Formats: sequence, structure tokens, C-alpha cells
Amino acid sequence: MKGKVYLVGGGPGDPELLTLKAAKILGRANIVLHDALVSREVLALVAAGAELIDVGKRCGRKLLTQEEINALMVSYAKSHEVVVRLKGGDPLLFGRAGEEIAALREAGVEFEIVPGITAGFGAAAAAGFSLTDRRVASQVLFTTIQRDTDNRSIQWGGISSTTTLVLYMPGTDYARVMQQLRDAGWPDDMPCALVSHASGKDQAIRSTVLAKLPDEGALPAPAIMVVGRVVAEVAEEIDREFRIGPETAARTSRPLVI
Ligand code: SAH
Repeated sequence: MKGKVYLVGGGPGDPELLTLKAAKILGRANIVLHDALVSREVLALVAAGAELIDVGKRCGRKLLTQEEINALMVSYAKSHEVVVRLKGGDPLLFGRAGEEIAALREAGVEFEIVPGITAGFGAAAAAGFSLTDRRVASQVLFTTIQRDTDNRSIQWGGISSTTTLVLYMPGTDYARVMQQLRDAGWPDDMPCALVSHASGKDQAIRSTVLAKLPDEGALPAPAIMVVGRVVAEVAEEIDREFRIGPETAARTSRPLVI
């Protein structure tokens, strides 16, 4: 085997949120297999002359199957020195990295994982609240309501009123999200934050409570939902600062002062 595959986290969007290591590897890359979520600004850091391949999904339409992506990584590693598998956020959260790591191991390809800032961290930073808070939240659950292992519905055991829930891929049917959370015993007044394009130029942030979730117009993808008492700390500020139309969306990149 000639090359090495780097599983790199591209962060939530703002290229300044990349690790130094990620930026360095992108600058040395020969081949970059990237997801649709990776921002244009991050892709701009890829070495001139490197081949960029979009292997991502758009509107649910898969460009390549996971097996095809695995096979591409393995075969490029035979002919290129620096092969980058670039994912949005952190590569190890909701990125099917487990399957890719298994394929690389099985093929005997050398690999390295470079962490990134996950969307949940980018969203909390943008909105200005802490994910844990000794007054109201002692644990954080990174999850999705889309599907669980084997397509079962999510097992909600272990969640309590001191949990902060970070919901990836919330979809656009917020009534369904509300129902699932209600069924899990979450109260109607539980604060929720919605963050679209966290850290990016099109960032938008909303705050509401569980019972009013269906009243919110769905934010553009990618969007993430954070549910928990920690959101209450900034609910008013979010409403004041961020409840705006798309025409003034540029303002949302302004830091929130509490
Ligand atoms: N590995 C990624 C997650 C991939 S799953 C990470 O660590 O962030 C894709 C989901 O991530 C999206 O549906 C959305 O819920 C969330 N997401 C990714 N980037 C985002 C962003 N910039 N703002 C808000 N949510 C984002």
C-alpha cells in the first residue's frame, strides 16, 4: 500500500473552525472524497491540483453507496499518497465512519482520524449557551430521531430533566419531533433551539418550547435541534437577536453577548 487515508472533520462550516491538522492535510491532499455538507470555504483549502470527489447525499439522493465510497478509498490509497475522506463536523458522529474504518482495516490501508467540531458544538457556540450547566444539565445526548440501529425507534431510557438533547437530522416535520419527545415524557415547556447552517454565512437561530415546535417554519438544512433547560438561559436573547427574516440573515454571524 502506497498511501494513507485521513478521515477528516471539516467542522460545521466556518473554515476557521477547522483544526490546524485538518487544514494542513487538506493542503497536502491528492484526492479528497467529501460529503455534500462540507462548506465551500473549507473545500477552498484543498491543494491546487488535488482531485475533489463529491460522494455526498443531496435531498436524500445518494450519489454513491457506502460500499462504493469504501472501495474508492481503498483503491485510491493504492495509487495516491494522501487520500482525504472529508466529512462535515466530526467524522465520528453520524458519519458512517465505523463502516469506513472497518473497510480500511480489512484492506490493510493505513489511516488516521482527524477530529472536527461537530454541528452540536457549533450550534451551541453560535446560540451562546452551554451544553452542560451545573445548575440545570449534567449530561448531553447526541442523537437523531431519524433512525436507530436496525431502524428501531430511539431508546429514550436514561434521559432525565437534566439531559441536554442534541438532535441531528431533525427533518422538517417538527410536529413529529414534538410527538416523539412528548411520548418520551418531555414536558411542553421544555426549551428548544433550532440552528441552521451553524457558523456559516447563512446561519439562522430560533428558540421555542416543545409545545410550540410545530409552529416554527422548518429551517433550511443542515439544521440541528437542541432541547433542554440550558436553552432557557438564552431564549430571550435568541428571540431578540435572531428572530429575523432571511434578508437580514447576515447579522446572525454577530457574536451574541449575554
Ligand atoms: N458528522 C456531522 C454530522 C453529520 S449528520 C457532525 O459532526 O456535525 C448531518 C446532520 O448534522 C444534519 O442533518 C444536521 O442536523 C447536522 N449539521 C451538520 N452541519 C450543520 C450545521 N452547520 N448547522 C446545523 N446543523 C448541522
